Amino acid sequence: MALHNLGYPRIGDFRELKFTLEAYWKGEKSLQELEAQAREIRYQNFQTQIKAGVELIPVNDFAYYDQVLNMSTLLGVIPKRFRQENFDVEVAFRMARGRAPSDDGHGCCAGHGHDTCESKADYAGAMKKWFDTNYHYIVPELEDDTEFTITDTRLFDEVAEALVLKQDASNIDFKPVLVGPVTYLYLAENKGTEIPKLSRLPALLEVYAQILQRLATQGVEWVQIDEPILVLELEAEWQNAFKEAYQTLAQSPAKLLLATYFETLGDNLGLACQLPVAGLHYDGLRGAKQLDEVIEQYPAGKVLSIGLVDGRNIWKADINDAIEQLQEAKAKFGDNLWIAPSCSLLHVPVNLEVETKLNPELKNYLSFAKQKLGEIKLLNDALHDKADKKSLEDNRQVLAAKANSKLIHNEQVQARLAKLDDIPLTRDEPYAVRAILQVARFDLPLFPTTTIGSFPQTQEIRQARRRFKNGEIDELEYIEAMQAEIRDVCERQERIGIDVFVHGEPERNDMVEYFGEQLDGYAFTQFGWVQSYGSRCVKPPIIFGDVSRPLPMTVNWSTYAQSQTDKIMKGMLTGAVTMLQWSFVRNDQTRETTCNQIALALRDEVLDLEAAGIHMIQIDEAALREGLPLKKSDWDDYLYWAVNSFRLTTSGVQNDTQIHTHMCYSEFNDIIQAVAKMDADVITIETSKSQMKLLDAFVDFQYPNEIGPGVYDIHSPNIPTVEQMVDLIQKAAKNIPVERLWVNPDCGLKTRGWKETEPALVNMVEAAKILKKQFEEKIQSA
Ligand code: GLN
Ligand code: ZN
Repeated sequence: MALHNLGYPRIGDFRELKFTLEAYWKGEKSLQELEAQAREIRYQNFQTQIKAGVELIPVNDFAYYDQVLNMSTLLGVIPKRFRQENFDVEVAFRMARGRAPSDDGHGCCAGHGHDTCESKADYAGAMKKWFDTNYHYIVPELEDDTEFTITDTRLFDEVAEALVLKQDASNIDFKPVLVGPVTYLYLAENKGTEIPKLSRLPALLEVYAQILQRLATQGVEWVQIDEPILVLELEAEWQNAFKEAYQTLAQSPAKLLLATYFETLGDNLGLACQLPVAGLHYDGLRGAKQLDEVIEQYPAGKVLSIGLVDGRNIWKADINDAIEQLQEAKAKFGDNLWIAPSCSLLHVPVNLEVETKLNPELKNYLSFAKQKLGEIKLLNDALHDKADKKSLEDNRQVLAAKANSKLIHNEQVQARLAKLDDIPLTRDEPYAVRAILQVARFDLPLFPTTTIGSFPQTQEIRQARRRFKNGEIDELEYIEAMQAEIRDVCERQERIGIDVFVHGEPERNDMVEYFGEQLDGYAFTQFGWVQSYGSRCVKPPIIFGDVSRPLPMTVNWSTYAQSQTDKIMKGMLTGAVTMLQWSFVRNDQTRETTCNQIALALRDEVLDLEAAGIHMIQIDEAALREGLPLKKSDWDDYLYWAVNSFRLTTSGVQNDTQIHTHMCYSEFNDIIQAVAKMDADVITIETSKSQMKLLDAFVDFQYPNEIGPGVYDIHSPNIPTVEQMVDLIQKAAKNIPVERLWVNPDCGLKTRGWKETEPALVNMVEAAKILKKQFEEKIQSA
């Protein structure tokens, strides 16, 4: 065995699983139909991998919803509120989606990892991002009475299903994939119990041992056991847990391939090399810095698997370079050197072949999951001196062409970037001075009210956008439709009595796509979907080349909106870090460089908006936090350039132009300093769900600028009452000087309907009025 895979996308070439799942959830398809679809996808995936020449094929990389959730049901980690006599797949769906069948409990703004709404009796499990990917898993819940016991047997069924195929093809085998016990425990969270997590390890290992035993009995030789937390900076107790775990599992009859990915092993390198398992998989791309050390330290005689074909990005691999990098490993490990992608292919789109609209030159530089199988095959062949010389030469030529491509490299952008140091990253005056000038300019009341940008995206809006895209209406008609919408939201905001208006973003289908489509250097696929959570997929744009802005992107909409009202109209942009974070990015320059290119383009947009009379501009950085590197020791570096990109975007405006930023999450404790360094005049954040507790970070730090702590949760259809919001603002006002407080919802309102949005905003404005009165009286009597 030499060529293997760590996981293959399970959504299907055209998101078949998504559509069948959603039809099933709506009651339009039966469980039998859903199961048939799932079997079909698994079968096709096996065939694709067999045809590609993969010798050891993953099983249990399939999941209806999430592979961590599958581990929970396998291990019997089922929250009390969902337990029932006999396990069935409905239990798993409830764990993921809560009890109400029509609501997946995760209807949040961009599907980027919000906590769940715990007000429902049978609320869904919390979702978290799987390491630094855009995939979300359902957090396992450990309760006082959680007992590990094999509960869900689908793993064994799928293994049996796969092993049947082995009879037709004697040169292949199957390898079940499990989340390893230490990673599983690490990701799990205690719920209403104080039992130390690690004290549960022995019991957990017992069940893992039973699972391995049962797999071996089925005829399984190798099991891939994913322990990605080995790339984190672990405390000693977790490092010790690894020793304990793998000493115990070493008794098992199955051979274990321990898989790590997404980063170097760092200080865990020695530990990973010593664990008593049969082999190790190492990510040679994200872990490049330690690849040589791994090759040197991993014991000869064991299997070392190395991934040099990128499971996280969409570029063709440099096979010739990979061959060279693997020479030493080949000499040391011989047939025990295995080849795989760097990590599971779950994180890349399925099949490049089905794309018909990409620029052919660009397409030639790309590789999706299916094509990556061809790349590992070529690499493996080359290492066995069996490679087709022409394929290797072709690969060399493609990479050379890419390196010199005019499509990718833009001299003007390069020239501008070379002079980056000439642009000051600081605004003319500090906030304290700017604030005085801004008060004079905007003359806002205490507790000014505003919203985060988008308003409900009605059927009509979506339809108009779709019809314009399909050429059914012309540009003029489209613009008229959007302007009518803008007029409508202006009238509504007027009626409601909001102080600072937004235009509502009707023209945006997505906060990244809208800008990406107007920037040079960005491409969009037709079917490049990647699973985000459950049936939800995202289609990240591809930043393939130097980024520049041929024309203003938002100025017409914002100025039109401003022309409809005397109130202040806030301009609305997506920040560079978020643009970067939610895209596939170049692999031939640093993320920092790409981010700066985007920031320069946005800087031009900011200055154009200002010149056109828009003096309040919000730049959303929804993804700033999720860009944090996996290793804490890398955080400062990242935050430094991320913050600077924001400053580069904003530093050119006049002192009385007010810069806002918005971040839709709530954990600020460990990044508050960086957030302050962004020096936005106003920041709006998510705080309502925690009852303003999350403001603590800002209070403790004495955050110096203005804040709009979200006063209602837009993820819930409930209409917040005036009293609830008064209460929240009062809490905030206890700790933040009232002159610096804004009143706004948690996030954009595009996923809501007007039915709940309008009364909610009416209440919000009323709450602000009450507060204003209270505080004005206080100020007068003082
Ligand atoms: N301005 C965006 C909106 O209101 C912000 C969305 C977000 O932060 N996710 O939709
Ligand atoms: Zn938000």
